[in-house]
Amino acid sequence: MLLTPGPTPVPEFVRKAMADVTIHHRTPEFEKIFKETRELLLEIFDMPEAVMLASSGTGAMEACVTNLTHKKALTINSGKFGERFGKICQAFDIDFTEIKNEWNTPVSVEAVVEAIKADPSIDAIFIQICESAGGLRHPVEQIAAEVKKINKDIMIVADGITAIGVEKVDTTNLDAVITGSQKALMLPPGLSMIGLSNEAVDKINTKPAGYYLNLSSEIKKQKTNTTAYTAATTLIIGLREILSNIKNNGGFEALYEKTALRASSTREALRAIGCEVYPTSPANAMTTIYSENSPAIRKILKTKYNVNIAGGQDHIKTSIFRINHMGLVEDFEASWVINAVELAMDELGLREFDGTANKVFASNMFKGN
Ligand SMILES: *Cc1c(COP(=O)(O)O)cnc(C)c1O
Repeated sequence: MLLTPGPTPVPEFVRKAMADVTIHHRTPEFEKIFKETRELLLEIFDMPEAVMLASSGTGAMEACVTNLTHKKALTINSGKFGERFGKICQAFDIDFTEIKNEWNTPVSVEAVVEAIKADPSIDAIFIQICESAGGLRHPVEQIAAEVKKINKDIMIVADGITAIGVEKVDTTNLDAVITGSQKALMLPPGLSMIGLSNEAVDKINTKPAGYYLNLSSEIKKQKTNTTAYTAATTLIIGLREILSNIKNNGGFEALYEKTALRASSTREALRAIGCEVYPTSPANAMTTIYSENSPAIRKILKTKYNVNIAGGQDHIKTSIFRINHMGLVEDFEASWVINAVELAMDELGLREFDGTANKVFASNMFKGN
């Protein structure tokens, strides 16, 4: 059972859709598929423009940094992925300033407001919606609303790789929203997507940047249902399949509700057996538990209960474990994993097993039924 917060398992119906013969990308046949996929993407982003890139999520992060920063970037670093925005700026010699917090701590709205007031040269802000390093949720929508009141020309770029497809993100004040194929969208890695505001499109077109990751040339092509370079045809076919499946089986809202309930039920269940939820503002994409026994717990889960969950990275590599909630996770899978954690804790002599985790999980998950 793969319950890591990316990659997530690719459902069988998606694998089947992608198993057909390779089609040429410059054909009416593929353009029709591209158009349908693009429309579904615009809907899930709830934004006026969107592009698909043949790259992992980081490629879209790089494209947004290079295409949307004309003067100086503000990057929000509460973990590995926020730190990456700064590293991209460094790689391209783009001036930037960073707000850094511990990996369990989201940035405050005030800190961002202060930073942009202190430095009027900042013209783009880069932030994760969910920072997957510690599983925290940044107050992106509130930050965007406050920043736009002060200066509407500052671009708000939100990395939604572990948020789009997990929850309804209010994109009203966002200029670019990034996502990738192998997390909430349950596809193989290799495709990234960016939702864009009209203001972002205008800014991109005033000063086109880069060659392969040139958003100006991609926007121009993708508006006509083709791509500047060879499209990732197979992954786009898979994306159409997963998005239309979600849409036709209860819709995105139902998926968001289900995910939120499963996430909160998992958190409550693990808290009830003495686990400490790591982030102060947990996102619904994953449950992150702080535990010095994380490597031992993960090992027991893998070897005895056939569950693969994630540890941490860098300084919290061995002190957290992360359980995925993104995608089409079955209730019984979430129930199995929290029960396995309780059994592992018993085996390690941390707490005697009494079935509390599953009792709390089930009473939260199914109380509305
Ligand atoms: C996984 C992830 C990325 C990086 O995506 P890649 O596909 O590995 O390049 C960026 N941001 C967040 C929040 C992620 O979870």
